[in-house]
Amino acid sequence: MIDFDRNYQMTINGHLVGSANTLEVINPATKSTIARVPDATREVLDSAVAAARAAFPAWSQSGLAQRQAMLTQIADAMEIHADEFMALLTREQGKPRTGAQWEVLGAVTWFREIATQALEDEIVEESDTRRVVTKFPPLGVVGAITPWNFPILLAVWKIAPALLTGNTIVVKPSPFTPLCMLKLGELCSAILPPGVVNVVTGGDEIGKWITTHPDVDKIAFTGHTETGKHVMRSAAGTLKRVTLELGGNDPAVVLPDVNPKAIAPHLFWAAFENNAQFCNVAKRIYIHEQVYDQVLSALVDFAKSIKVGDGAEPDTGLGPIQNYPQYQKVLQYIDDCKKHGYRFAIGGDVDVSAKGWFIPITIVDNPPDDSRIVAEEPFGPIVPVLKWRTEEEVIKRANQTRYGLGASVWGNDAAALERIGSQIDAGTVWINEIHQYSPHQAFGGHKESGVGCESSLHGLMEYTNWKTITLNKRVDF
Ligand code: NAD
Repeated sequence: MIDFDRNYQMTINGHLVGSANTLEVINPATKSTIARVPDATREVLDSAVAAARAAFPAWSQSGLAQRQAMLTQIADAMEIHADEFMALLTREQGKPRTGAQWEVLGAVTWFREIATQALEDEIVEESDTRRVVTKFPPLGVVGAITPWNFPILLAVWKIAPALLTGNTIVVKPSPFTPLCMLKLGELCSAILPPGVVNVVTGGDEIGKWITTHPDVDKIAFTGHTETGKHVMRSAAGTLKRVTLELGGNDPAVVLPDVNPKAIAPHLFWAAFENNAQFCNVAKRIYIHEQVYDQVLSALVDFAKSIKVGDGAEPDTGLGPIQNYPQYQKVLQYIDDCKKHGYRFAIGGDVDVSAKGWFIPITIVDNPPDDSRIVAEEPFGPIVPVLKWRTEEEVIKRANQTRYGLGASVWGNDAAALERIGSQIDAGTVWINEIHQYSPHQAFGGHKESGVGCESSLHGLMEYTNWKTITLNKRVDF
């Protein structure tokens, strides 16, 4: 029986493991300490990697059907505990119930759907004289390093494909949000052989140790672009495979033919879902000048109907900022807008004496393209809206960024939607919708938003080597 209220220990080689040193976990809505978790030493990390290595031969040879069945069992067990996971996620991350439900049930779906996938052998040639087959054997031990904004889902995006393809894994959650992952580790170890899934908690240095560890074969990382560059550099030492899911500065382009009132709620959630602590929220909203004033005013009206508060309260629409450093960072963006005299259409006044790390919904009215709020990724509830006139100009501005994670285009003119969408350089372009993901849909960033992809068969392949076996059938020696 998993106790979701206490006893947060690591899972290593099928055992619950504590440590002498601990880190505190804080509820961002109250700034109070809700738990302490192990702060692992290098030796503990080494023991987790050794356990994963020892479990690899049997797991990789266990057969796809067995691994598929076990992933499905994990999905079922998670679903049984979905309410506990959601409550814990709200406590440690801050997100309201609807967001917690989306994430936890999403994780269940990922386990269940990835369990239906398979990388079939590719028969490249089958003739009278030759047979050539490409197979997809697993890599070995995967190190998964995850951020604090979607602590369960983004871990499951790595665990499910790694396990299905026959790898074993060591997961390191963010030090800000380790609790759900520790509980997921416990749950996995009740189903899987020891050592197949290991969870190690601690500070950033655990991530550094994983990325340089000689016995880790692949890094699956989600986090900041700058951290991703460190990861890639460290992983180069042993030429580990890397999948990097990094930052974004996603544009949303709104055509002149929209109905302002009808589009406003969609644009609002495009920009503020998960309190905008989301790689894929619309971080720059380009509205055609013909409807700019009307759309902005409808957006502000809708924003006024959303309550910012403790995610545990049922009427809360947006929770707090997850951690203090991020809160400070968002305050800096607000200060920078004030310093430059940009106009807030709504928000901008932060009550720093509030019980939690709350920031009011803030919309900045048409700041310059080179302002920090447009050019950078604030990762909090402050979004710039910008005027555009010609398609050529808005496409150029949308692409004027080192990022290329996602984008969205909104309107009724199908040809214009397609024309604009196809010219934005991003891994996912949503048209008249946003934040639609699927275990069968490749997700990844262009430019400095990432390397490789997650989900789909392409994502599965990133957990495998290619191995081509040829047979010359004309044996005459
Ligand atoms: P972060 O880069 O600070 O931390 C991510 C993880 O990396 C944490 O577990 C952290 O402990 C670890 N880490 C820190 N330094 C490390 C190092 N040198 N080597 C190895 N590991 C290290 O990111 P964050 O603040 O937790 O997350 C926010 C960022 O993540 C944003 O930029 C956001 O856009 C991005 N993100 C991207 C996606 C995506 O799919 N592309 C999804 C979610 C978040």
